Amino acid sequence: MSDERAPERRPATWSRRGWLAAAGAGLIGSTVRGDAEAAHGGPANQPVPRNPSATLPLAEFQPKSMLHVTETPIARARFPVIDFHTHVSRRRGQKPAVPPADIVKTMDAVNLRTMVNLTGGSGEELATTITTFDRAFPGRFVSMTEPTWTRAGEAGYAVWQGDEVANAKAAGAVGLKILKTLGLYLRDGGPQGTLVRVDDARFDPMWEACGRLGWPVAMHVGDPEAFFLPTDRFNERYEELSAHPDWSFYGRDFPAFKEILNARDRVFARHPKTTFVALHVGHWAENLKGVGEMLDKFPNVHVEIGARIGELGRQPSTSAQFFDRYQDRILFGTDAIPLGTETPQQVFGEDLYRIYYRFLETEDEYFDYAPAPVPPQGRWRIYGLGLSEQILRKVYYENAERVLQLKLVGA
Ligand SMILES: [Zn+2]
Repeated sequence: MSDERAPERRPATWSRRGWLAAAGAGLIGSTVRGDAEAAHGGPANQPVPRNPSATLPLAEFQPKSMLHVTETPIARARFPVIDFHTHVSRRRGQKPAVPPADIVKTMDAVNLRTMVNLTGGSGEELATTITTFDRAFPGRFVSMTEPTWTRAGEAGYAVWQGDEVANAKAAGAVGLKILKTLGLYLRDGGPQGTLVRVDDARFDPMWEACGRLGWPVAMHVGDPEAFFLPTDRFNERYEELSAHPDWSFYGRDFPAFKEILNARDRVFARHPKTTFVALHVGHWAENLKGVGEMLDKFPNVHVEIGARIGELGRQPSTSAQFFDRYQDRILFGTDAIPLGTETPQQVFGEDLYRIYYRFLETEDEYFDYAPAPVPPQGRWRIYGLGLSEQILRKVYYENAERVLQLKLVGA
C-alpha cells in the first residue's frame, strides 16, 4: 500500500501510522473521521486522540520492552565480593529482621564474601551488633559505628566524640558511618534550631581520630540532585518523591544541593590523612565529570556505587570511562537492607546482587536496575558496562580490602 493511493481522502490531521491502521481495519474514509468528530465534538482541523477514553494513570503504566536483545544472567559474581554499603543490623536491641545465618546463605549463593554493615550503632548497640554478626560469622560481616548526634549540643562533645571513635575500634568496629543526618536533619537548639553544617568544627577531632586509627569514614551527605528541586512535572524523580515526600529537601531552610557538597569537600580538604568513602558515587552520580574532579582534587577520597546503578547505567559510555579512570577508587556497594519492600532498589536478596553483577560484568542492554515492576527511582532502564577482569577484581574486593585494611577474601 502506498501513501499516494488516495491522498485527498486522508484526514489532514491523521498521522500516516493512524491512516495505515485504520485502512488495515477496513475503516478508511470519511466514516471514521465523522465518527470521531461526532463523539468528541472536535472541529475538523483539530487532532483527534485515537482512544481518548483510555487515559492511563502514570502509576499504572508498566510497559514491557519489545527489544529482542541478549540477556546474560549472572548467578554468581565472577570474583568474591565485598559489599561496602549495607544495613543488616537493627536499632536498639531489636532482633535482626532476617537471622544472620539466613543472610549468609544468600551471600553464599551469589558469591558475596563480606557485608560491611555501616549502621552498627554505638555503645551498647554496637556491642550487640558485633556479637550477633561480626563475631558469630567471622569475615562475613564487619560493622561500622556512628556518631552520637544526640550529644552534639553538649559541652565537650568534640573531644568526647573523638575518643569514642577509638573506643568503638577497641570494641571491634571497622570504620565510621555518617548518615545524611549531618547537613539535613541535625539542628542546634531543637527542631526549630539551625541546621548543623557538614563542615562544623566540632567534628574535627572525630575526623582526625579516624585518620589516626587508619579507619575509613563512609559518608552519606546530600542526596540525588532532583531531591533538591521542586516535586513537579519536570522532576525526573517525580514518582519516587511523590511516594516519599519526606525525601524532598527543596525549600524551607535546606541548603542548596551544591552547598552541601562544598561543605563536605572542605572536610575532605581539612583532613587529608583521613580516608573518606563518599557513598552513592559521591552523591552526584548524575554528574560523573564533577565526581571525577572531586576525586582528582582529594586523593584521600573513594566512592561507592550503592543504589546508583540507575544513574550509572543510563550513561554507559561515560560510566565505563569513569570506571577505567578511577578503577582504584571505586567500591562495590548496594545499600542493601534485609527488610521491607518500599525501596526495591535496596531489598537484600539474590535478585538485587544479580542485577549489579549483570550491570558490571555484561554488555546487556536496556534492563531493570531494580527488582520491581516499575523502575522505582525513575522510569528508565540501564546498560551493562562489561568491565575487564582487572577492574572487576578491584571494584568487587581489592579496593575495599585496602580501604578497610583487612584481608577478607580468601582469608
Ligand atoms: Zn545506606
